Amino acid sequence: MLVQADVLRRLVSEIFLHAGSGQEEAGRIGHYLVDSNLAGHDSHGVIRVPRYVQMLRDGRIHANRTIKIVRDTDVLAVVDGQFGFGQSIAPQAVQLGIDKAKKHGVAIVALRNTGHIGRVGNWGEMAAEAGLVSVHFVNAAGSILVAPFGGTDRRFSTAPFCVGVPRPGDPPLLLDFATSVVAEGKVLVAAKGGKPVPPGSLIDENGNLSTDPIVLYGPAGPDAPPDQRNGKGAIRAMGEHKGSGVALMCEILGGALTGNGTAGPGSRQFSNGMLSIYIAPDLLGTDDFFAAEMKQYVDFVKSANPATPGGEVLVPGEPERRTAATRSAEGIPLTDEVWQSLLETARKVGIGENSLNSLVQ
Ligand code: NAD
Repeated sequence: MLVQADVLRRLVSEIFLHAGSGQEEAGRIGHYLVDSNLAGHDSHGVIRVPRYVQMLRDGRIHANRTIKIVRDTDVLAVVDGQFGFGQSIAPQAVQLGIDKAKKHGVAIVALRNTGHIGRVGNWGEMAAEAGLVSVHFVNAAGSILVAPFGGTDRRFSTAPFCVGVPRPGDPPLLLDFATSVVAEGKVLVAAKGGKPVPPGSLIDENGNLSTDPIVLYGPAGPDAPPDQRNGKGAIRAMGEHKGSGVALMCEILGGALTGNGTAGPGSRQFSNGMLSIYIAPDLLGTDDFFAAEMKQYVDFVKSANPATPGGEVLVPGEPERRTAATRSAEGIPLTDEVWQSLLETARKVGIGENSLNSLVQ
């Protein structure tokens, strides 16, 4: 089915308003989750709603939290998210980095202990909108899902990496990916009847490559949501030894250096850690050259002869913008299972049938 973005935003916001978030936070969660669907990253979209509500109820995340600044210099901040919603905490931490870098040319913000910050590209975009280059190393403590190169046991989180680059007069370059072959949410989408994961995304405990979500979640039960603790296999790190190395660095920089904690052994509460570096091209004094050279170079890259007939070379950020344009016009495709899980969650948090009907019209 196709659902219009504004209907989804309204529904998701209302769910979190009923679940305990204030109006602004509920609106932000609706905005960012639906934005991920618009960008084509359904894994980080509204499919997360039941899980977020459950985490809120279990006390693993908390509504309406603000950041606590633990250490603060002109160009450096350590920020504790106090296990608030990532959609509230991350923009506050990013704004802090933007303010510092705009003043001093560069800033580093080490964010720890935050609920799921969703699509990291949102934060690269936010910095790019302010005219800043940004680099983000992210990990997820308490979420061990990915086998390192050469192994079958889970040792990494899906540890995303993101670089955002503003382009005057053009949309930003936005590289944003999980360092696993697929993000966990994409396996979740497949487990819920959505798009299957690409071949070789998963590895079972015997070292066989697989696409079956059972490897990650174990056998599905009628009432039990897919639970990663039940599977015996792992997602594979992307890019063989090189991608596995990038994943390790996301754990070390996003997890250890920030004070968040890595996806190490033992049971840890879920929390994203993010080490962000912000650079202001205008304070470097190369901004005019940078913009002109980048424009010429991106055109040069895109002019490469297509590898397949009718194909095209795209730059990071382009696929998401195209998908967003289509989905904004036509609606967001949702599986029936995801739609039903949203309605079910709405009822669970106390939204009555009449209100629900008027919300989804
Ligand atoms: P992906 O594999 O779709 O890769 C996306 C990146 O590749 C984007 O930069 C995109 O513009 C670029 N890209 C895609 N197709 C391209 C093409 N044909 N040519 C050039 N560039 C192309 O993304 P993913 O690994 O599935 O990650 C999905 C999302 O999950 C990301 O937004 C990531 O931040 C998020 N994530 C978040 C967490 C978390 O803990 N918060 C964990 C893992 C992933």
